[in-house]
Amino acid sequence: MPKNIDLKSLSKADVYHFAAEHGLPKYRADQLLHWIYERYALSLQEITEFSKALRSELAHAAYISNLELADRQRSKDGTEKFLFSLEDGQTIESVLIPDKDRLTLCISSQAGCAMGCGFCLTGGMGLVRNLKAHEIVDQIISANRLIAPAKITNIVLMGMGEPLANFDEVVEALWRITGLMGISKRRITLSTSGLVPKMLEFPAKAPDVNLAISLNATTDEARSRIMPINKTYPIKELLDACRRYPLRPRRRITFEYVLIGGVNDTQADAKRLVKLLRGIPCKVNLIPFNPYDQSNMKRPSEETVLEFQKVVAASNMTVLIRESKGQDILAACGQLRGKQKSSEDKEAC
Ligand code: SAH
Ligand code: SF4
Repeated sequence: MPKNIDLKSLSKADVYHFAAEHGLPKYRADQLLHWIYERYALSLQEITEFSKALRSELAHAAYISNLELADRQRSKDGTEKFLFSLEDGQTIESVLIPDKDRLTLCISSQAGCAMGCGFCLTGGMGLVRNLKAHEIVDQIISANRLIAPAKITNIVLMGMGEPLANFDEVVEALWRITGLMGISKRRITLSTSGLVPKMLEFPAKAPDVNLAISLNATTDEARSRIMPINKTYPIKELLDACRRYPLRPRRRITFEYVLIGGVNDTQADAKRLVKLLRGIPCKVNLIPFNPYDQSNMKRPSEETVLEFQKVVAASNMTVLIRESKGQDILAACGQLRGKQKSSEDKEAC
């Protein structure tokens, strides 16, 4: 075994293997997993269930990595944005969204994103790199430490990145989040821009979490203009995959539709949307475009948004207007950028 293994980088099976290689019984591996994923230990030294001798023996071979909190901002609506630095100095953002009895954490799956959607600040960065499974999970662990004794109840993979473009690490992260952190798969939603082959591969490999599709337009012409992935997987292919997607009884796919002024917000669009989604067990979330400096796209008027909703609702479809929170701190959907604003002190979390 090489020295200095990051225990967080190991899968559950690998932690068992690690324990066995160090002559430890299985219950010691379970203790390690418990301390990492449920008690959020920052280091082996915190695992007081282990004797001092055992802790220092293990410390010769392994350690527990942690994200560094580089910045934390609080919106006037209660939303909080965490900027985390990774071990190689890259930065990612996670957003905490308190809502009634829920505490949702919106997590990132990549630093940047390669998909290049024209309405998304993250897309404008390009892909910096994929996150490792533990860097995905660690956003939740770190947030839980920061907000203790409160605890995250819901997870959305709607932060930076296209989760299905980082398939293996995201799938492994989901197994750890559901299996080791004990967050129910029903309380987790993965959002994708529509990588069709990966969408179809996903149900057989990953826990059965909720699926959201960023549709955002009703013609291939309009969708390809704002979401380049549509040129590879056009609307029909995407919706055929949704029709084939194995949904449990009473589960529905969520379609996200970012309403952009003059781009995709007409009543004709609303009518086409209804037609396109016919036969798919689903609900629609309308997200009025969240503006940012580098974009000249516009959010439609409130009246246009309400009219759009009315047309869709007339078909008996569930359609909600999702006003993203945290806009004053650039924490809303599509506004995540991951750059550190200043060189404030960092702290482990
Ligand atoms: N890459 C995934 C998940 C991250 S984006 C995806 O595209 O689904 C999360 C959501 O934010 C998507 O539904 C996307 O359409 C939306 N979004 C991106 N930029 C936005 C913006 N500027 N205003 C409002 N919503 C935006
Ligand atoms: Fe990437 Fe999603 Fe932004 Fe598109 S909307 S650029 S897929 S993060």
